[in-house]
Amino acid sequence: MSQPLTASTSPTLKKDDLIVIAGAGGFIAGALTRYFHDQGFTRIRAVDKKPLPDWYQRVPGAECLCMDLSEKDNCVRAAEGAVEVYNLAADMGGMGFIERFRIECLRSILINTHLIEAAYRAGAERFFFSSSACAYNTELQKDPHSRALKESDAYPAMAERGYGWEKLMSEMFCQEYSAERGLKTAIARFHNVFGPFGTWFGGREKAPAALSRKVIEAKDTGKLEIDIWGDGNQTRSFMYIDDCVLGIDRIMHCDQLIATPVNLGSSELVSINGLVSLIEEIAGVKLHRTYDLNAPKGVAGRNSDNTFIRSVLGWEPNTPLRAGLRTTYAWIEQQYYDRKAGKRVVTEQ
Ligand code: NAD
Repeated sequence: MSQPLTASTSPTLKKDDLIVIAGAGGFIAGALTRYFHDQGFTRIRAVDKKPLPDWYQRVPGAECLCMDLSEKDNCVRAAEGAVEVYNLAADMGGMGFIERFRIECLRSILINTHLIEAAYRAGAERFFFSSSACAYNTELQKDPHSRALKESDAYPAMAERGYGWEKLMSEMFCQEYSAERGLKTAIARFHNVFGPFGTWFGGREKAPAALSRKVIEAKDTGKLEIDIWGDGNQTRSFMYIDDCVLGIDRIMHCDQLIATPVNLGSSELVSINGLVSLIEEIAGVKLHRTYDLNAPKGVAGRNSDNTFIRSVLGWEPNTPLRAGLRTTYAWIEQQYYDRKAGKRVVTEQ
């Protein structure tokens, strides 16, 4: 199988074509902005509603706009002149956030609704939407040993309340803009993403970052305990950020995947207890575990079935969890001590 096309190898995209990235003050879109910059793209417009000093990454040369993309006029301004638009803007966080703030999650539908229309009217060639494994039917995820989720498992629909339904509806917008109006849309269903420059404290962080921080805290304070949400038997897979941005690029530029939701996730399944053990190993510490059975814990088991992405792209996210965790742990540890020393850290909000 030949190498899948990317922005750099696309026969139509030029290095000075305008790429618009929504949510660029956040984790994944910040990494995507850096990725395109490193690939030599010279016109990148990065947009986020967060004030600029709070962006996780500021990429040199990118035009940075602070705008609320749930407003139509701002989407029109953001999409002006765009050749490609990537929508990664959403009000989201880990389980603690999406179970508590369903209305905020649902309201993200305004962003995609206005942004895809604005992209279409601006004459953009391609539009990317970041969907989620939370769009899958929750009935299929009631057991830690549930089989991995394949793309057809989203229907009959019983998505995660709030957040998952918004993703499913926005996917549908993308599909209909392709069917009725010919816009080339790409839809990736991300499974948990982690890595440096991700949220690591404050309530929106996800399991790998939250548990790394807790282990670092325990080592620092000498209180060798860790509290775990749920019974620790719930299972997940975690995709390293470098795989995520490469996957976004490949999915966006694959004509076979137009308007076709595809899993973008690791298929390396781990229980939360297993994840804690890996982090303890990296940290060189062993902690006493307590379990908070009343804390938000999400579905019992979720993994990514990568048969489809492999068959189309000849590739799937493949950074081993242990390797990704090592880098992430080291980054969070540095952030932790910088913060303790009173320095401003990148994910402070
Ligand atoms: P993030 O919270 O770090 O980034 C999202 C960014 O969107 C934030 O910087 C936020 O300020 C911005 N935003 C929110 N509302 C906005 C608005 N109205 N106008 C402009 N900007 C707005 O999250 P992330 O982890 O980088 O996630 C990016 C995308 O990927 C989201 O769509 C998310 O739902 C999806 N996703 C992420 C994961 C994951 O594990 N991180 C998993 C599945 C799906």
